[in-house]
Amino acid sequence: MTRLWNDPADFADEMIDGFVAANGRHVRRVPGGVVRATMSPAGQVAVVIGGGSGHYPAFGGLVGPGLAHGAAMGNLFASPSTQQVYSVAKAAELGGGVFFSYGNYAGDVLNFDAAQERLRAEGIACETVTVTDDIFSATADEAHKRRGIAGDLTVFRIAAAAAESGADLAEVTRLARRANERTRSIGVAFTGCTLPGAEQPLFTVPEGRMAIGLGIHGEPGVDETDIPTADGLAELLVEKLLAEVPDGVQLAGARVVPILNGLGSLKYEEMFVVYRRIAQLLADAGLELVDPHVGEYCTSFDMAGTSLTLFWLDDELEALWQSPVDTPAYRRGAVAAHQRTDTSARSPISAGAAAPTTATATEAIEPGDEASRSAARTVLAALRTVVETVDAHVEELGRIDAIAGDGDHGIGMQRGSHAALAAATAAVDAGAGARTTLARAADAWADRAGGTSGALWGVILGAVAAKLGDQGRPEAAAVAAGVAAGSRAVTDYGKAEVGDKTLVDALVPFSATLTQAVDGGARLADAWRTAAHAATRAAQATADLLPRMGRARTHGQSSVGTPDPGAISLALIVTAVGELLAAPNQKESANG
Ligand code: ADP
Ligand code: MG
Repeated sequence: MTRLWNDPADFADEMIDGFVAANGRHVRRVPGGVVRATMSPAGQVAVVIGGGSGHYPAFGGLVGPGLAHGAAMGNLFASPSTQQVYSVAKAAELGGGVFFSYGNYAGDVLNFDAAQERLRAEGIACETVTVTDDIFSATADEAHKRRGIAGDLTVFRIAAAAAESGADLAEVTRLARRANERTRSIGVAFTGCTLPGAEQPLFTVPEGRMAIGLGIHGEPGVDETDIPTADGLAELLVEKLLAEVPDGVQLAGARVVPILNGLGSLKYEEMFVVYRRIAQLLADAGLELVDPHVGEYCTSFDMAGTSLTLFWLDDELEALWQSPVDTPAYRRGAVAAHQRTDTSARSPISAGAAAPTTATATEAIEPGDEASRSAARTVLAALRTVVETVDAHVEELGRIDAIAGDGDHGIGMQRGSHAALAAATAAVDAGAGARTTLARAADAWADRAGGTSGALWGVILGAVAAKLGDQGRPEAAAVAAGVAAGSRAVTDYGKAEVGDKTLVDALVPFSATLTQAVDGGARLADAWRTAAHAATRAAQATADLLPRMGRARTHGQSSVGTPDPGAISLALIVTAVGELLAAPNQKESANG
């Protein structure tokens, strides 16, 4: 149960405000997250971490000397948007390049990668190591597909210690990759977690049972047993981790850092009882335990559960591990006093809350001509329809996403579509044409929604916008070409193909049918409705597929029989927009 909130939609922002107000000695708010409030040497590699909120102390609590330079903080369990990541990286950057590290989740990868491209395009060197410690989320052959859980800490620390020692970006990257290869975790849960304002937990574990191999966003476990004794749990965790020792490590005499992580509402006392047995078992296996950690490092809201991480040291990694750290939530050794940055005198709350997250939102609007402004009003009406459609299905979309994903698809689409409508309204009021109106909406959607689908909807709408122009009434062919460009951009960007059980399964037939009908001379409204039928059929057919992309991939089997939430929401949206285009008062604009 999460008990305290104001408006659930404001929870993440208000949490960050309060976190910064309480930790002004360490962190300073910037659009998209936080950066160190202390000075760092010019030329140092800036380590930027991040992910969704709801995992405290990951990620904002790990910013400070000896650890991250900045953290992009997304909405609850939703990856930060590209703009948020970029903004934090720019604020953290010191001239030595930017190093990104975060847990390997589809939405985070999309958004951090896009931010990385933007930084590189500006001439700022940027490298990434995603954390893949969770051994239950993919087999050892596909270790690069594993997701990141509490093992984040070791990779972040090694990267940061290397940066602090003056290593360049290539060296920081090499060491972080090595740390990731030598970090393995496994987690269990006894209860699910409930997001603020949600009526249901993201998932439940039957009374007396324990889910094994769950994700930190409530992605369901891959196995389930009766809750064992504390010693029984210790034995299970150690057995699984010792069955997958990194290449080249000899058990006898190996030096490991054990990290027993609480996921949110497990008591420290319970963890100590479990750790007592873990320590015995690891010692019996001949391991030398170094700097054991028992506490909360990466939580999952109020989930009751725990994970065990083993970090297999070598001489190089162990030397870096000794370096001191001073952050809001994590301290090690003694860090020399750091001078604060001069901007820290600002009130953290006003500095953060007032700051816009999108640069474009403040740029002046070039007015469109009359025909394009009329088309912009159609775009606005379409976005209003999108909002109504998403609002009407928000719970259903969340429910479908919870079956194999993390249950946030409804609220993510809601945040994105509402932000898009607000941005489009402001653009139309300022006299924008169709392209600018939809482009503003696309940026706002991606920025506010976060997550995988937020990034992809930003890409789709942005591609359509580019074909509409700000002069003249867009032709039906331009709309179809925009949708086709959006469809290609989504597959380029997200790497999913038809059949992978994603929104691509609905988008590709939608686009193909639309183009074909428009090429055949159909009016836009008619072509669109034919295409929407194709999208709906294809979305429903995803029920039979096994997911191969996105977070649902790990829980393939459990999703068979349920369609893909992203494909369903896309089909619902294009269907509703088709009805709008065909409505009598839209005939004129729909003629295309
Ligand atoms: P998240 O997965 O970050 O929680 P959402 O729940 O909002 O984001 O969206 C999930 C949807 O995103 C999935 O149902 C799927 O349609 C879509 N998706 C996930 N990964 C990809 C990808 N690589 N390419 C295209 N669509 C994807
Ligand atoms: Mg989701």
